[in-house]
Amino acid sequence: MPTNSSRRRRARALRLGVLSTPLLVLFACATMTVDQERDMGESVVHEVRSQVRLVHDKVVRDYVADIGYEILDATGPQPFDYNFYVVEDDQINAFALPGGHIFIHTGVILNARNVSELAGVIGHEIGHVERRHIARNYNKMRAGGIAQQILTTAGGLYAGQAGAAAGSIFGGMAVASVVNTFTREAEREADDFAVATLPRAGYDPNGLPTFFQTMMNEGGSRPPEFLSSHPSTENRLADTRAAITALDLPPGLKSNDGGKFEIIQRRVRLLTGSGGGRP
Ligand SMILES: [Zn+2]
Repeated sequence: MPTNSSRRRRARALRLGVLSTPLLVLFACATMTVDQERDMGESVVHEVRSQVRLVHDKVVRDYVADIGYEILDATGPQPFDYNFYVVEDDQINAFALPGGHIFIHTGVILNARNVSELAGVIGHEIGHVERRHIARNYNKMRAGGIAQQILTTAGGLYAGQAGAAAGSIFGGMAVASVVNTFTREAEREADDFAVATLPRAGYDPNGLPTFFQTMMNEGGSRPPEFLSSHPSTENRLADTRAAITALDLPPGLKSNDGGKFEIIQRRVRLLTGSGGGRP
């Protein structure tokens, strides 16, 4: 999985400084171009990475990233270099930053019943990026003053002020929260994307509705962002099941991967000391 070297970070900071005028122009526009989204993602991802507890274990990271890249291979050429991160957090959640930075909580890995359920969640998040939902949420970022904050953060990076990001009113996670507040239509589109793309990647698309079912069975806990309050989980379960029924699925799609997924679950439990997830 690609990681950002300090050299690359410095180059990026310089580039952000050089791009300060285009960034100002960006804030005057209604939607983000691909280049603008990529730049914004890179300016925010470092902050988010410092605000969450990442799982650095290469086996776990690569396992999640490989599923992501399999889905991307089935998607076709993409304008972004996607990156996948695993966040140590028992809450069942996942989110995407601008430019294809996708974060999956260990709560998803531990609560999924098989690899196709995990692939369903990853496919859904890729769908938000691929369908440019993140870019569409840019107007919300502007309304909340977050765009201005990112500009300030970018300026701080240019000046070499590491504290500029840490001291910002709107942290990276606030940006993540705003750009991951999707409309009902966007959630449905991301679900549709996952259902349509998973079979081409070799995965059983039923992993998505069965994960919804798993979550509904869990019940009681805080509603995670991945399962937004609208449309309801019941509706998403019904919609994805109906969409799958309409597909002519090839035989041999996998919901299991020969025990690898279960080994990753065990590894995550050992690494994080988590008692969470399914027994
Ligand atoms: Zn979503």
